[in-house]
Amino acid sequence: MTLEGCIEKLMKIDSLEIATVDAEGFPHVRVISARYFDGDTMVFLTARGKAFVRQLEHNPNIAVIGFDEAANDMVRLSGKAERVPDSEQVAYRNRMYEVYPYLENVYPGETKEIDVLYRVPVYGMEYFTLKTHPITREFFEVGGAEREKKGYRITETCIGCATCQSVCPQNVITEGTPFVINDDHCLQCGNCFENCPVQAIEWMGD
Ligand code: SF4
Ligand code: SF4
Repeated sequence: MTLEGCIEKLMKIDSLEIATVDAEGFPHVRVISARYFDGDTMVFLTARGKAFVRQLEHNPNIAVIGFDEAANDMVRLSGKAERVPDSEQVAYRNRMYEVYPYLENVYPGETKEIDVLYRVPVYGMEYFTLKTHPITREFFEVGGAEREKKGYRITETCIGCATCQSVCPQNVITEGTPFVINDDHCLQCGNCFENCPVQAIEWMGD
């Protein structure tokens, strides 16, 4: 999988869920179908009156997830939504209506003036599939962004007992000093973490 392949897959998924956080810190999620990519930047459309817009204006950080049921593939991205400048709104909207002609039924005629377009320069994408064994998880950094490492890691305090290997459902831990988890195939289930007799395994990230 490549970053371009990930974007292509995301575009083929009918609906994406986008999560935001409101001013009180409560999470919200909704489904969007109208979106396109301009290079590494995802563009989406909503309406100015929606709570979604108030949340974005308060906190532009978003997380997006799409699941392709047929292929058992998941694509996730994160980024910061920016309102498209007023001078470019119409051009972005026109392109969106070309990609999704059904929008003409949703906002016919001049009612489309209520639309507002946002763009999200994506800084990280993740592809995850359960259809391989072991499972596959791939991360992509966009535009040179540094990916925050997340997942389980075996530290130098490992005593090499191999307990973690024996309890790993995906068999993705290799021997070494210390033992090593292959995070491209790790489920992040935590079974190794819970069973290590010397607490040599730690979680990285949030
Ligand atoms: S269970 Fe812990 S100590 Fe044993 S090999 Fe795994 S990480 Fe090392
Ligand atoms: S978190 Fe789960 S899948 Fe990943 S290495 Fe540990 S036991 Fe294996």
